[in-house]
Amino acid sequence: MTPGAPLGDYQAKRDFERTPEPTGGGKRRGRASSGPPRFVVQEHHATALHWDLRLERDGVLASWAVPKGIPADPRTNHLAVRTEDHPLEYLDFQGDIPTGEYGAGRMNVWDRGVFEVQKWTDREVQVIFHGEKVQGRYALFATGGRNGRDWMIHRMDPPSDPDRQPLPSGDDLRPMLATPGDLPTGEGWRYEPWWPGQRLVVPFDGGRPIVPTGPRLPELAALGEALGSLAVVLDGVVVAIADDGRPDRSRLERRLAATSAASARRLAGRVPLTFVVVDLLWIDGRSVTQLGLDGRRALLDQAVSRGPAWVVTPRQSDGEALLLAAGDTGFAGVIAKREASPYSPGLTSPDWVASRAPGA
Ligand code: MN
Repeated sequence: MTPGAPLGDYQAKRDFERTPEPTGGGKRRGRASSGPPRFVVQEHHATALHWDLRLERDGVLASWAVPKGIPADPRTNHLAVRTEDHPLEYLDFQGDIPTGEYGAGRMNVWDRGVFEVQKWTDREVQVIFHGEKVQGRYALFATGGRNGRDWMIHRMDPPSDPDRQPLPSGDDLRPMLATPGDLPTGEGWRYEPWWPGQRLVVPFDGGRPIVPTGPRLPELAALGEALGSLAVVLDGVVVAIADDGRPDRSRLERRLAATSAASARRLAGRVPLTFVVVDLLWIDGRSVTQLGLDGRRALLDQAVSRGPAWVVTPRQSDGEALLLAAGDTGFAGVIAKREASPYSPGLTSPDWVASRAPGA
């Protein structure tokens, strides 16, 4: 550890007996590379999910931590916090940084490639990325905060996908509702359990849920982490599952009654919730509300796999059997949905029918 040496800060923060990260003390493999400079973006599941952007420069990797990832759209700049220079070996690093170490958590390579420098000063960097995911002109510029560590990253080219639609907001985030009625039968219906809980349509962007109001739900933050850079809008139901495996409304109400952030955190440990995902409205820059239910479901199954605090709702072809079992298993009943039905935010639709279980 030599303060003032090029990698002094990097080495001072780490215990190389414990972390699998490169020491930066080797032969500086690749330093003499004659090709264009290289970059890497790592997805880092540290205390807070972020993406680390590292650009080869003067024998080291100039680095920024970008909490919401590399912006795909010039209208949305993202915070980029300047961090210590990393050794070139870090271009290939992925692994688990152990608990207790600096930056503890899983780190994966999210993108890599080469770049062209258009401008490089202490306060502004302009580059053209040639990565697998990130392509085009970007500017990084210091904004003056935190002793010069706060920068922003801005896309200078048009959106990478010109057809990209903005994340829905406002009325477009109202849930589609079911019409109460008797269980429909016949061709073309899908049947799902009617979960007793709180309905919530949630956009996820930059690995984070966007929940404007309501109780704090760390369970949604965990789902955001799992989604990573995939932006989606999910329709779901927040439920509490009792020890016997049944959904339990009184547990849910106890948990949601927590008003302060501190009491919500305390209760979250004792009364965990599950976000049961029932539909998908938007994914990766495009609305899918005009697709049929089965088309949306296929995309949803690809995007979201089961996690510790979330699940995609099961479906049944036999609605009558599901309705018979519902009352005994703690469900309110059955929601029947037409397989071809589009998603209509805020609409009470005859394409969705809610049938209450006998005795529920
Ligand atoms: Mn990091």
